[in-house]
Amino acid sequence: MSEPIKTLCPYCGVGCGLEVMPPAQTGKATSRDSEGNPMWQVRGDRDHPSSKGKVCIKGGTVAESLNKDRLKYPMMRDSLNQEFRRVSWDEALETIVHRIEEVKATQGVDGICMYGSGQFQTEDYYIAQKLLKGCLGTNNFDANSRLCMSSAVAGYIQSFGSDGPPACYDDLEETDCAFLIGTNTAECHPIVFNRLRMHHKKNRSVKMIVVDPRKTQTAEAADLHLAIKPGTDIDLLNGIAHLLMKWGELDPLYIDECTADFTKYAEIIQHYPPEIVAGRCGIDLNHLEQAARYWAESENVLSMWSMGVNQSSEGTAKVRTIINLHLMTGNIGKPGAGPFSLTGQPNAMGGREAGGLAHILPGYRVVKNPSHRAEVEQLWKLPSDSISPIPGRDAWSMITGLETGDVGLLWIAATNPAVSMPDLVRTKKALLKSPFTIYQDAYYPTETAAYAHLLLPAAQWGEKTGIMTNSERVVTLCSQFRQPPGQAKPDWEIFAEVGRRLGFTKEFAFASSAAVYQEFVQLTKSRPCDMSGLTHGRLRQQGAIQWPCPLEEVTDINSFALQCPTGGNISQNKKESGLFSSLLGNNKTEPPKAKRLYTNGTFNTADGRAKFAAFHSKGLAEPIDNEYPFVLTIGRLYEHWHTMTRTGRIPKIMKRQPKPFMEIHPKDAQRLGIEEEQMIEIQSRRGLGRFPAKITKAIATGTVFIPMHWGALWGENTEANVLTHPEACPISLEPELKACAVKLIPM
Ligand code: SF4
Repeated sequence: MSEPIKTLCPYCGVGCGLEVMPPAQTGKATSRDSEGNPMWQVRGDRDHPSSKGKVCIKGGTVAESLNKDRLKYPMMRDSLNQEFRRVSWDEALETIVHRIEEVKATQGVDGICMYGSGQFQTEDYYIAQKLLKGCLGTNNFDANSRLCMSSAVAGYIQSFGSDGPPACYDDLEETDCAFLIGTNTAECHPIVFNRLRMHHKKNRSVKMIVVDPRKTQTAEAADLHLAIKPGTDIDLLNGIAHLLMKWGELDPLYIDECTADFTKYAEIIQHYPPEIVAGRCGIDLNHLEQAARYWAESENVLSMWSMGVNQSSEGTAKVRTIINLHLMTGNIGKPGAGPFSLTGQPNAMGGREAGGLAHILPGYRVVKNPSHRAEVEQLWKLPSDSISPIPGRDAWSMITGLETGDVGLLWIAATNPAVSMPDLVRTKKALLKSPFTIYQDAYYPTETAAYAHLLLPAAQWGEKTGIMTNSERVVTLCSQFRQPPGQAKPDWEIFAEVGRRLGFTKEFAFASSAAVYQEFVQLTKSRPCDMSGLTHGRLRQQGAIQWPCPLEEVTDINSFALQCPTGGNISQNKKESGLFSSLLGNNKTEPPKAKRLYTNGTFNTADGRAKFAAFHSKGLAEPIDNEYPFVLTIGRLYEHWHTMTRTGRIPKIMKRQPKPFMEIHPKDAQRLGIEEEQMIEIQSRRGLGRFPAKITKAIATGTVFIPMHWGALWGENTEANVLTHPEACPISLEPELKACAVKLIPM
């Protein structure tokens, strides 16, 4: 029996390791998917450092999504009211090249936009950056991570001088106090939550605080649940800081030695006395004080958050306010402590490393920094000033660019904005105006395919080899184990072929994804996310490895050079210089132990100090009023993933969660005469949806919840984002998808 093939779950940012085996090797009767195809068997990879063999229902059933409704051939049409016709790859690629040249000539290069995805492997992200930002000269590449993690990115950059979550999953088992805010970890990051819950159950002194307007499964496991009113996170965080300062529960040495700007922050938090904060947040004063006491009494506090914090018009301020608490108490860079953003998508972290947002470049560089641009241009062997100093269009401004006619070509890949963007009525109207939309995806139909002129079939999970980085900076090689269906190709190969046809033959002369990765890691050398010691070969041999992982740490240089597609770029001189001499012949295969960032109290800012930031709370961008008296919050369910392009095609999952619903508190339901399962029309200023009521005390009064997964393919009026608005954080440009004002009309 051959060895199982190692890969990573392609759903959430927990990044669980998987092992895949063909059906015949299990010894059981061949299992088949809903299409009757023999099904690959998937199990958790016990050797993976992040998940240690555990998987949730999504990872366990992912192989069932491989065959159904696959897009197999390029398809094209001249206008959106025509049927698609099958075309050759040659015709599809020539059309793209022609359209790019046309937009460049008529509108300028900034008329071209690409909207990518945290589903990309790092190689896909990297080649897209080289094509758009390097060769074409526009920074108009943004990814769906903009809707997910960009507030965390901005918060880390502003507080620490660079992106990168400082903590790791081992901290889940070493913390004295877990502070979970704006995250339903039990449903959205279940394997992370299981690790924390085990630790919490085993150690009665360990505390768990959950801050969420809903009593989620996560909140049910907590010692203290703070059901704050939506939009009062900063009040709460400043209120806890106020109490810690009043009680003298600070770490003055850490503040003095490792941080800057504490004085202004200390002045701001004076304005958050507990009585006022408890009133604003709608929580008991005792509970607020208890939360602060848990912080004060714990040696190591680990904060975790996800979309409940990030998807906000003050998302960056919220992230920095969480970080402030860690800096003032010295809870960072040590076991069991630190601020820890839980990434939504499987490779949103890899995307950030590869420069996959409109304002950044590979290796945690930013487009506004002239030295950063020069370094990237040099490695890409492009003339100076090839890279524009102006950040490109973020996700939402691609939509507004379609409205104004400034976007002449939109290339969407591995994401489904016709479900996931805010204000869907407006989004869809804008997509209808697009002069030319390329949609590159593994599946057909999808909601976004309805707005495309050209469909490109993409290879997906298991059909290409590449890299993904999870929330704790662990880098995993995801190995191919089956051929893509029909003529589907890896995303990076499609981008590279377009690059070559545009005349950049040398720039895109890659023979494999391993060679792409090898070029990419050179751009991380001596950067905070240094991965120059990684290759596909090393990851295949040693398993997943956490960064930073500089070349200097490679312990088996012979193996590294052998596995590296460029020969490792290590000269004989260097080998003999002593750098590796003591290690030559050492066949050590143990990956390094998990690493935290900032363990020495030195940060990536110019002066090495982390920065405090002082923010007052602004509240929701769209507060409730007499006409729209409820706050709508949206979120994910345990079973489903994003816009259901995979999970919607898996019968086992659909059976468990077949339809969307609206959670409402019994008091509100009684007041409005709403009964269980009764259809309710929810209206916002932008659109309406219809959902059966689910009456539950899990939701606070005055707030309703609906899941965000269902799009137009599943029926009329089931789309959560028809209701949401695009008001965004001015720093991260992440829209406030988490809250808007609505009214309820029982039907
Ligand atoms: Fe996949 Fe996330 Fe589930 Fe792990 S927790 S199996 S990464 S969906």
